[in-house]
Amino acid sequence: MATSAAAAPIGRQLLAGRSIAICGGGVMGLATAVHLGRQGLGNKVVIIERDASYKYCSALLSAGGVRQQFSLPENILMSKYSSEFLLDYTVCEQQKRLAQEAGDGDDDQREMIAFKPHGYLFLAENTDQEAILKTNNETQRSCGVDWIHMADQQKLTDLYPWLNTEDLVGGTYSHKDQHTKEGYFDPWGFMQCMKREAISQNVLFVEGQVDAVNCSDTGSSSSSDPLLRVESIHLRHGKKDNNDIEEIKGLEALINTTGAWSREFVEQTICLPNAALLSEPQQEAILDLIPIERRKRCIFYIHCPAKQSFSHPMPDETTPLTVDPAGVYFRSEGSSPGHFICGVSPLAHLDHSFSDDESLETVDHDLFEEVIWPTLAHRVPAFNELKVKSAWSGFYDYNYLDQNGIIGYHPNFTNLICAGGFSGHGLQMSPAAGNAVTELLVHGEFRTMDLSAFGFDRLVADEPYLETGIV
Ligand SMILES: Cc1cc2nc3c(=O)[nH]c(=O)nc-3n(C[C@H](O)[C@H](O)[C@H](O)COP(=O)(O)OP(=O)(O)OC[C@H]3O[C@@H](n4cnc5c(N)ncnc54)[C@H](O)[C@@H]3O)c2cc1C
Repeated sequence: MATSAAAAPIGRQLLAGRSIAICGGGVMGLATAVHLGRQGLGNKVVIIERDASYKYCSALLSAGGVRQQFSLPENILMSKYSSEFLLDYTVCEQQKRLAQEAGDGDDDQREMIAFKPHGYLFLAENTDQEAILKTNNETQRSCGVDWIHMADQQKLTDLYPWLNTEDLVGGTYSHKDQHTKEGYFDPWGFMQCMKREAISQNVLFVEGQVDAVNCSDTGSSSSSDPLLRVESIHLRHGKKDNNDIEEIKGLEALINTTGAWSREFVEQTICLPNAALLSEPQQEAILDLIPIERRKRCIFYIHCPAKQSFSHPMPDETTPLTVDPAGVYFRSEGSSPGHFICGVSPLAHLDHSFSDDESLETVDHDLFEEVIWPTLAHRVPAFNELKVKSAWSGFYDYNYLDQNGIIGYHPNFTNLICAGGFSGHGLQMSPAAGNAVTELLVHGEFRTMDLSAFGFDRLVADEPYLETGIV
């Protein structure tokens, strides 16, 4: 952690009255700002994003998926909330598009979320896996999600003629014709919609860096358990080399939505009131409550030209996101035939954290050759013939305790909130997370759904809260 910085010169006065600082302007930050704005608090809120081009932002490098096929009620309910939030935007965007087509809209309103409700398909190759899917499906139904169904091998064959089902026992699916709220969407369009809404509610969006977070001791600290308060932050406008620094004082809350960089943010910016007050183990303990690290994941965009004929037909443009029992996933991409994206998490012993963002400039092509393609070619015979058109990498905001989100007040601070660590499913959770953070700030408790299981208590107790539906 940093030690106290010297007082910075006060620069522009843009920030007067901004007492809720959101650090990290990706999906979690924007969704939080939108929900605070809807509560009439927009003029108190500033979002600080270090890179307005979002080069490394995980949301924009993601697969864009939303599903309710989880095992934990919290994840199911959060994703359900989020898909409804998303659909509201979609409807709203459609109306705007119609208005534009009728010559009644402006050019700024062209962003489209492009939600494709093609569903998800989880496959089981043995009865143990099938039993997990069945239990999950019961939980999904108890959460009001009744558009996800069990399928036996014959049903899978009937529904998905492109699928090799010979070694499958069943699966769960949501089908495009059954009003599913599962599918994928364009994260960029989604972020633009949220940013526009937040700004319209007087939220201030600033491109900049937080150099220092200054804290005071609340006087309630015990020798083993410090309790601090974030008082102010030093904001460096623009890029790192800019010397235009401003101090935002009198903070009610600092919200850490820096995604895969959440731990680093605390490590590099928090200035303890008196470094000597806390021993090194105590400082470590504060950081260990943010078990989030950067784990690289690659996505491959493939084209299946269908020149040859195989035992099964080629999947079409409405193919759901299909998760093979081996962990490899793929889905259709866009509306032209034969285009898909796919990926897989690396094997555990090859999966590690990264400390530099530049590692995203490379893609693990061996993963495609050795794991993804053989699995795809077995599961979808038409994929024996395909070509990788492009590939990219992004970071999972990987929570190494249990790969689930962390939402709540950091126990060593009265006003530092964390919303992150959702690993591979944070895009779709962001609206519900933004709503939850807003409820914590406005009401001091969760109202829409009880997300206390995603709070810090489990981290303090070192007790993982495990989700079986991790992709
Ligand atoms: C390959 C891949 C596929 C995925 N697929 C899906 C999917 O299908 N569905 C799904 O729901 N999720 C998916 N995810 C996960 C999802 O992208 C993340 O969980 C989600 O984006 C997390 O949102 P966030 O706002 O916390 O982080 P981000 O989206 O990364 O946003 C964090 C922002 O904080 C900024 N920032 C970082 N440090 C600082 C700082 N010090 N100061 C200011 N700003 C800072 C960053 O520039 C960034 O813009 C996928 C991720 C990857 C990598």
